[in-house]
Amino acid sequence: MYENLENIADFSDRELKEIMEMPGEEIAFKLATAADRVRRENYGDEVYVRGLIEFTNFCKNNCYYCGIRCGNSHAERYRLTKEQILECCEEGYGLGFRTFVLQGGEDSYFTDEIICDIVSEIHEKYEDCAITLSIGEKTKESYQAYFEAGAQRYLLRHETATEDHYKKLHPSQMSLANRKRCLYDLKEIGYQVGAGFMVESPYQTTEHLVADLRFLQKLEPDMIGIGPFITHGQTSFAKYKSGSLDKTLRMISILRLLFPYALIPATTALGTIHPQGRELGLKAGANVVMPNLSPVSVRKKYDLYENKICTGEEAAQCRGCLEQRVKGAGYRIVTARGDVRRAPHGKANR
Ligand code: SAH
Repeated sequence: MYENLENIADFSDRELKEIMEMPGEEIAFKLATAADRVRRENYGDEVYVRGLIEFTNFCKNNCYYCGIRCGNSHAERYRLTKEQILECCEEGYGLGFRTFVLQGGEDSYFTDEIICDIVSEIHEKYEDCAITLSIGEKTKESYQAYFEAGAQRYLLRHETATEDHYKKLHPSQMSLANRKRCLYDLKEIGYQVGAGFMVESPYQTTEHLVADLRFLQKLEPDMIGIGPFITHGQTSFAKYKSGSLDKTLRMISILRLLFPYALIPATTALGTIHPQGRELGLKAGANVVMPNLSPVSVRKKYDLYENKICTGEEAAQCRGCLEQRVKGAGYRIVTARGDVRRAPHGKANR
C-alpha cells in the first residue's frame, strides 16, 4: 500500500495517520528515501544557511511551552542594540551568510519605527542579502511597514492548526484565528512566509498533525519549520516529555513529499534531542540550516527549551562545524540567498 510514497498528496487523512503511527523503522526509512529523492530533484544537494540573530528575549506572551514566556521570572532578560545586531550581520556576511533572521520575543521596546530602522540599515548595507523577521503577531500595517523597509521573509509557526489544541498550549489572550490572520496577511503583502509546528507538544494527537498538514496545504507556505517540543523546567509543561527523533524525522519526510518546493530547516531543536539530529533531518528531506549568529554572551539566555545546543561557540566555529556536518551527511552548503523554488502554479502540492 505504501510502496509509492511519492503519491502521498493523494493519501486520505486515515492513510496519513497510519504512516505517522506505523511501528518499526521500515516506514521511516522508506519515507526518508522517497523524501531525499524529491529533495534532490528540486534542490540537488544544496543546503542553505540562515544566520539566526536572537535579538531580544523579552516577551509579552506567556505560551505555556516556551522558556522566554513573560511568566518565567527566572529568565535573564536581554536585548541587543542596533549596533550589536549590525555587528552580527557584519560577522555573518564575512562568513558567507546571505540571509539574516532576526528573531525575538514580542518585545514592545522594539516599536515598528525601531524595527524598520534596523531592517532598512541592514538592507542598505547588505543589498545582496535577504532579511527574515520572526517577531510574532503584528497588525497588517506593521507587517507592511517592515516589508517596505526591506524585510522579504517572515517566520511565524502556526504551532498547531487545531483550535482546542491551540488553547491548551496558549493563554486565552492568544488565538489561532489571529495567528492564521497574520500568516495570510503576510502572504498577501508579498512576503515569503514560513509556518510550522512543534512535534509531540503536550496533548498533541496524530489527528492534530494531520490537521497541521491540511492547513499547510491551504496556506502553501514557502518555508516550513518544525522541531520536537522540548521540555523547559520553568514552564507549565515542565513535567511533559520532549518529542521524539523518530516522529520528527517522519514529519520532515512527509512535509518534503507534500511540499517538494519548500524550504525546510533541520532545526536546532532537532540537534538538541540527538547529537546527529540535524544531519538526520537533512537526510530525511530538510534543506536549510540556521546557525546562531547572536553574540555568545547572550546565547544561553535565549533558552526556549532545555539543553539547547551551540550556545558556547563563536559564529565562525558554528559555521565550520555545520559545514562539516552537512558534508558528512552527503550535502553541500551554498553561499546564496536560497530563495524558494516554486513549482508552476497548480503543481505546488504535486
Ligand atoms: N516570538 C516569535 C518567535 C518565537 S520562538 C513568534 O511568536 O513567532 C520560535 C519558535 O520556537 C516558536 O514558534 C516555537 O515553535 C518554538 N519553541 C518555543 N518553545 C519551544 C519548546 N519548549 N520546545 C521546542 N520548540 C519551542
